[in-house]
Amino acid sequence: ASARTPLMAGNWKSNLDHQEALVLVQKLAWTLQDKKHDYDKAEVVVVPPFTDLRSVQTLVDGDHLSIRYGAQDVSEHDGGAYTGEVTAAMLAKLGCSYVVVGHSERREYHGETDQLVNVKATKALAAGMSPIVCVGEGLEVRQSGDHVSYTLDQIDGSLAGLTAEQMASVVIAYEPVWAIGTGEVATPEDAQEVCAAIRGRVEETWSSEVAAATRILYGGSVKAANIAAIMAKSDVDGALVGGASLQADEFAGIARFY
Ligand code: PEP
Repeated sequence: ASARTPLMAGNWKSNLDHQEALVLVQKLAWTLQDKKHDYDKAEVVVVPPFTDLRSVQTLVDGDHLSIRYGAQDVSEHDGGAYTGEVTAAMLAKLGCSYVVVGHSERREYHGETDQLVNVKATKALAAGMSPIVCVGEGLEVRQSGDHVSYTLDQIDGSLAGLTAEQMASVVIAYEPVWAIGTGEVATPEDAQEVCAAIRGRVEETWSSEVAAATRILYGGSVKAANIAAIMAKSDVDGALVGGASLQADEFAGIARFY
């Protein structure tokens, strides 16, 4: 047992229409209530597309829901002539608590580098939000056996220059790319190996206090049926969930892992 409150974050990616999005948030809240979910035992976060955030804010505020929410990405810029970009200040104003940065799909399809992820994390922090910084190796790296050093390099680059004070608001998500959306879940031992190595690197770079307080999530084909075994590992503090977060029952089952 640790002092870290587990965090279950559901990344909806580019799914659901607006109506479906609002139904999902309400169903999730009701299901968690039915299951007598204790939000102190697992924080629950939804990460919808930008276009749903305003309405999610209204729902959460209006119904005093304990669910928190965040965005899937953030601009590296503070504002100005950057067509299509959504800034950290805009997201903070909509009540976002979290921003996912450096998801493997952003890294792969949009060429995001550790350096860019680092800037985005810094922007989220400056606006008072917690970045969920994603790292993790692809299949080839896993097969070559270099997954730990590869992931730690991403940690070094993505978190470079952050202060211990900033680290208090950072969440790390270890997501082996070969396990995302493939149904191929890493074993709890695989997840623990890399999450422990990440915590070790945080300790070396900052301090044992920072390392003890930093939440490190696992992501990759997490479901209600496999979450308990993953959460039993001492360095795994929650999950970043894709597919299974689109169903209220399933995601509530993940949050209610304890
Ligand atoms: C993700 O994309 O962050 C993810 C973990 O997806 P899935 O749960 O669908 O594998």
